[in-house]
Amino acid sequence: MADFCDKCAPEMWGNEFPPDIDTDQIFGSLMDEHYQDGIICEGCGLRAVGRVGDEKILIYDNTDLHRMHEMIVTKGKY
Ligand SMILES: [Zn+2]
Repeated sequence: MADFCDKCAPEMWGNEFPPDIDTDQIFGSLMDEHYQDGIICEGCGLRAVGRVGDEKILIYDNTDLHRMHEMIVTKGKY
């Protein structure tokens, strides 16, 4: 079964069904300068959600997760 994020799910099914991948919920559960991977949105290719302070970072298919992790850590130092 395919998973869809909170951006793609409403386009697929309307707003009546909760998305498989709720990026706001993931973001809310993250500690600062962390990210969660292991998710794949079949619509937009979303693969991970990161957090830097109050900024939500969406990480897509074409992004190297290791590089993104470095970016999150580096960004958090400003
Ligand atoms: Zn999506």
